[in-house]
Amino acid sequence: MMQQAPLILLAMDESPTLKLLEQALHASSYEVAIAPDYIILEKSLLETSPSLLVLGEKLRGKSGFDLSAAILERFPTLPIIIFADSESPDLYKRALKLGISDVLCPPLRIDDIVRAIKRSQKRAEQTGDWVRREVKRTTSSLQQRVDEMQALVQLGSSINSTLDLDSVLTSVVTAAVELTGAEEGQLLLLDKKNNELYMRAGRNFEENFARTFRLPVKDSLAGQVIHTGQPISFDVDSPNKIKTSYLVYSLAYVPLRTQEEIIGVLGVDNRHNKRPFNQHHELLLTVLSDYAAIAIQNAQHYEETENERTKLDTTISNIQDGVILMDKFDRILLINPVAKRIFGLGLGNLAGRNIAEVIEHEDFVAVLDSATENPLKHHELSFEDGRVFNTQYTPIPEIGAVVTLEDITHLKMVDRLKSDFIHTISHDLRSPLTAIMGYVELLERVGPLNDQQRLFIRHVQNSVTNITGLVNDLLDLGRIEAGFDTHRDRVSIEQILRYTVENLEQQVLEKKQTIRLNIEQHIPDIYGNPIRIRQVVDNLVTNAIKYTPEGGTITTSLREEDQLVIFEVADTGVGIPPSDQPHIFEKFYRASNAPKGVPGTGLGLAIVKTIVEAHRGRIWVDSTVGQGTKFIVMLPAYDSELSS
Ligand code: ADP
Repeated sequence: MMQQAPLILLAMDESPTLKLLEQALHASSYEVAIAPDYIILEKSLLETSPSLLVLGEKLRGKSGFDLSAAILERFPTLPIIIFADSESPDLYKRALKLGISDVLCPPLRIDDIVRAIKRSQKRAEQTGDWVRREVKRTTSSLQQRVDEMQALVQLGSSINSTLDLDSVLTSVVTAAVELTGAEEGQLLLLDKKNNELYMRAGRNFEENFARTFRLPVKDSLAGQVIHTGQPISFDVDSPNKIKTSYLVYSLAYVPLRTQEEIIGVLGVDNRHNKRPFNQHHELLLTVLSDYAAIAIQNAQHYEETENERTKLDTTISNIQDGVILMDKFDRILLINPVAKRIFGLGLGNLAGRNIAEVIEHEDFVAVLDSATENPLKHHELSFEDGRVFNTQYTPIPEIGAVVTLEDITHLKMVDRLKSDFIHTISHDLRSPLTAIMGYVELLERVGPLNDQQRLFIRHVQNSVTNITGLVNDLLDLGRIEAGFDTHRDRVSIEQILRYTVENLEQQVLEKKQTIRLNIEQHIPDIYGNPIRIRQVVDNLVTNAIKYTPEGGTITTSLREEDQLVIFEVADTGVGIPPSDQPHIFEKFYRASNAPKGVPGTGLGLAIVKTIVEAHRGRIWVDSTVGQGTKFIVMLPAYDSELSS
């Protein structure tokens, strides 16, 4: 490549001097470019990289000095010569202050011009070298800072992402050694019981030495750091040398501090070279020791949570019931072996999977689907092989929900046996009862009776009627439970309710009660057995009258919601204690607060529930003792029933 002649840029107003300068420079084999205004000057500076700039004292009315100052800020090594109209001491002072290379004034001799230019170039070259050296030096120390920062940032992120304490602490010590240029590094932790320090991580120490290393807190340099909480550093030249257990030339220790206390020391040392550690090294060590402290605390917290988790895991694994814990998005957080066994899921890890994908049992999925809106929380889950589980869905705020599955197969079996037994007995009872009734009625016909005999006969008749009622109830229940009650028709529950209320008016009047009927909209028919539906309505309204004192109010209502007919009976009666509520639908169960004088067998609600469920409906109770009770029955509407 041909060596190009140096380019001199002349930025000054048009004048004979400019011409002269141009010629003189050409004659001395310089390349010359002219910038008559600052736009061209700016462009030329950027595009042509001139080796020298000659600037007029004024350029288009702007001060050449001001322009120089601005240019030198951006091109500090560019030599600038100011061409002034006349000489003055002020002029030189200003030029010197701004770092302008030279000032030229008329009268101008070509020699002077060329000499000034050469001088300025030479000086500029020297400054250029110096600047380059300086820049290199600063850049390399900047690079070192960047490296340090990078190492620290990397370490920081590894602390947050890894829970392997050993590897984090080893990285910390390695970084300490590398960033300070030390020969050795160690992280000593306090063993409070023995008041000693042991080496938790080390760099460039023999493994055996590191493992057995023990340092008393008392009388040791590291111990002093623990006591005072202040960093310590010394080297061969420090005035107050302090002995360590092994010979080192220079050393720096900083405390390892958690939020509550000082738990150890991070240190580096030199045993062969005598290079001292400075304040910057101390600062680096402090940052690193903070990292180590965070990592140690993280590990402690993790260990604590892990312990808790393991405890919970063990507890849940050993529970007799199936337990499934889910997050808010129905993903499995935990599923115990019993639950896996119930659904035949194998022992693989299912955490994180969506529950509905893992468990395909139709009723179970239905329980989950309805769990959020349906207040019914207990469900019976049946399997084809005869197993039955009582399933409970409980929302857990912030986390999600837990589903527990209790095996009630044996209870169901006992219940069935009981039902069978009752059914047989009732059957066997019915014929003798009919016979008793028949003969009692015949008594009056076969001969005259006195008043007392007639009274006794009435008692017998009443009792037999009661027993017959009970037996009939039991037989009904047995039939419905056994699934024999399959008769289905289009039924207007509205008509049934109106009819029942009318029929019971006399009873209501006798107790000075008020009965209301709320039917505000068209109520769709349902698909069922009219006799059974009448039993449901009759039992609930009769109970409401029975368990409400004189003067109370009974409110019945019917409405339709989402293809469901909702029938409610509310009263202002005695209410049902919460502890009795889960049992009132069981056979023969009467609540603890059932008034003494109120007759009953505890069968009515069992029949009601069995009928409702046989009609694919649901029933539940809402009651407050002393305020009243509300029974809510939901039955599928006729259309939806047909279409499903
Ligand atoms: P019973 O023949 O005793 O009325 P049920 O099966 O109909 O039997 O009801 C079971 C129990 O539930 C009752 O004994 C009573 O304690 C309670 N109970 C039912 N309905 C009501 C109501 N409307 N108000 C208060 N308690 C009620």
